[in-house]
Amino acid sequence: MKGKGEVRTRRSLAQHWLKSESALESIVRAARCTKEDRVLEIGPGTGVLTRRILPLVQALISVEIDRDLCKMLVKEFGQRENFLLLQGDFLELDVESQLGNFEKFQNQNKVVANIPYNITGPIIEKLLGTIASPNIRPYESIVLLIQKEVAERIVAKPGSRVFGALTVRVQYLAECEYICTVPAKAFHPAPKVDSAVVRLIPRELKKQADDPKFLETIVKLGFSAKRKMLRNNLQSIIERDELTTILEELQINPQARGEDISVEQWVELSKKLKEKAKQNDGSENKFDNLDKIDIMDEDED
Ligand code: SAH
Repeated sequence: MKGKGEVRTRRSLAQHWLKSESALESIVRAARCTKEDRVLEIGPGTGVLTRRILPLVQALISVEIDRDLCKMLVKEFGQRENFLLLQGDFLELDVESQLGNFEKFQNQNKVVANIPYNITGPIIEKLLGTIASPNIRPYESIVLLIQKEVAERIVAKPGSRVFGALTVRVQYLAECEYICTVPAKAFHPAPKVDSAVVRLIPRELKKQADDPKFLETIVKLGFSAKRKMLRNNLQSIIERDELTTILEELQINPQARGEDISVEQWVELSKKLKEKAKQNDGSENKFDNLDKIDIMDEDED
């Protein structure tokens, strides 16, 4: 797509240029940038966000896959000594290893980005890590513009219809805040869906899982069929009666569904189930060989 004087857009790269001043301001404000910050941006596009962040921070490193856009970005920002552009696929790049000689860009402490929506899940997973393997160098904060529907799932409270495996995986690793909604018309070309700004503050949950891999597994199982009670979704690993006893011990309604219990309760439940599995067959490793879990693999409604 290209109109007069416009930058062409590649749909395959989820290119939607943000044009709303107020949305841009909300993102920048949510990031609370200071002159000490070393910021990572994913998908700078035509540089609307880049332009606003650069004057506020010590260093900004932007990763853009589109070579034509990179040329434009270099033209505009190439002379700025606190700017570094990496051309490549963010999911493939080991950003830190590219920064050998650029000390001041190393160890970024914040992420601020309007990301490509087709890879939202993998981007969040790369930034936070997983329950079993959290990012060993967590960022201080991650401010992202993402699909509204994904944002709602990430910040969902127990009992919400949109609380799912993604909710548990992200909230296990970070404090999550919904900052504001950004309507589709704030972009050009307008995407099909509304968007939202979220802020993720990585932290260790007070109650850590004894066996994070096992927690990942039961979260995946617990949400495998939507709106089914836990005792149905988990019946492949535990008898219904046994699960009822465990849920009662944890003061959880035996008829609870995956979306009804908090992240802390998921942690408790995984501990109890693990103990039970050990008692029952003396083996802790019964569920260890499940396939790697994809952060976005939940069914849509
Ligand atoms: N931040 C800009 C553009 C957002 S659109 C704005 O707010 O207007 C998403 C951007 O991510 C596009 O520039 C697209 O080329 C880029 N992109 C898509 N896939 C990418 C990937 N795998 N790695 C890095 N950048 C990517």
